[in-house]
Amino acid sequence: MSNRYRELSVELGERSYPIFIGEGLLGTQDLSAFVSGAQVMIVTNETVAPLYLERAKASFPGKRVDTVVLPDGERFKDWQTLNSIFDGLLEHRHTRKTLLVALGGGVVGDMAGFAAACYQRGVPFIQIPTTLLSQVDSSVGGKTGINHPLGKNMVGAFHQPQAVLIDTASLQTLPAREVSAGLAEVIKYGLIRDQGFLGWLEEHMDALVSLDPEALAEAIFRSCACKAEIVALDEREGGLRAILNLGHTFGHAIETYAGYGNWLHGEAVGTGMLMAAELSALEGMISRDDCDRINRLILRAGLPDKPPVAMTADDFMGLMAVDKKNVDGLLRLVLLRSVGDAVVTAEASPENLALTFARFCS
Ligand code: NAD
Ligand code: MG
Repeated sequence: MSNRYRELSVELGERSYPIFIGEGLLGTQDLSAFVSGAQVMIVTNETVAPLYLERAKASFPGKRVDTVVLPDGERFKDWQTLNSIFDGLLEHRHTRKTLLVALGGGVVGDMAGFAAACYQRGVPFIQIPTTLLSQVDSSVGGKTGINHPLGKNMVGAFHQPQAVLIDTASLQTLPAREVSAGLAEVIKYGLIRDQGFLGWLEEHMDALVSLDPEALAEAIFRSCACKAEIVALDEREGGLRAILNLGHTFGHAIETYAGYGNWLHGEAVGTGMLMAAELSALEGMISRDDCDRINRLILRAGLPDKPPVAMTADDFMGLMAVDKKNVDGLLRLVLLRSVGDAVVTAEASPENLALTFARFCS
């Protein structure tokens, strides 16, 4: 690899893999060393293909590169669209030595990863995430899958990639709203595990929103380092990994209430983290000042700080009761023990939860 870039490792024994982060990596880095056979299948979508597909192909000199271009959107994260990846692989006679490449946001990453987990009982794949959310979150950790009409991400597999290549330059074409949504997950890492990083974010939030390349590279590096560490400690979400869901229980309720696609995931998580912070303060874990501090940062990231106007406490309770994290009917939430330290608990008092809704719902 020639360009200036930074490298991290996700330490998972035999399944360890590198994350490369740098500006302009796509197309200038030779990735053919990751291909054991002669064939590569790049999976992307109709929005990303015109922007980055040619450059991605150039990353595999000397290999036979085929492509599958999916329609764009969360609603295509389904069986039928997944099957079109298998169609492409079989039509072009890809063997077990093929390498799949996910070129796009989290939707493409989750689908191409799941296709790699299933095709001929499992083939290697590389993540080339092109949204901020996928660069700091979904491309690292090996969760892959698709949606079912009865639930999001309900069908899937753990399948770790061989490598993650993050070209920060690809963010220059990303819509501002998607940048803000990604920043919600970036802020999350500071809140759950890295107080120092949260301070850094407060200093650099304006640079991040205006897509300053150096600030982006640093934020992505520190976010990936945090996720890599958590994944290395708890690959299959036996415990610790659940803290990555800070704000997500409230957030999922907002996403479902609003109808998928109306609120971006990161937007809902941003507001969800504020609700989790409020509840943490009511439980006596963090201070009012901490809550205000988090609120300011969320607003500066361009994220909403209130749920949809008509959403009530009852709407929240109904939707939160079906969360995957709940065990035996108990509502489990990620709360902040302090800024930079999260805990999963089923102990929050119903009164404080009601107060939280009262403060956020009109
Ligand atoms: P996305 O993949 O839908 O991408 C958002 C939009 O940006 C799409 O329209 C996409 O085509 C477009 N886009 C992508 N790169 C672009 C670029 N460089 N320039 C311009 N446009 C670009 O959404 P996302 O936020 O990246 O990912 C969300 C998905 O990720 C969800 O399906 C979620 O379930 C999944 N996810 C998975 C994990 C995991 O651990 N596997 C974690 C978090 C989220
Ligand atoms: Mg998330």
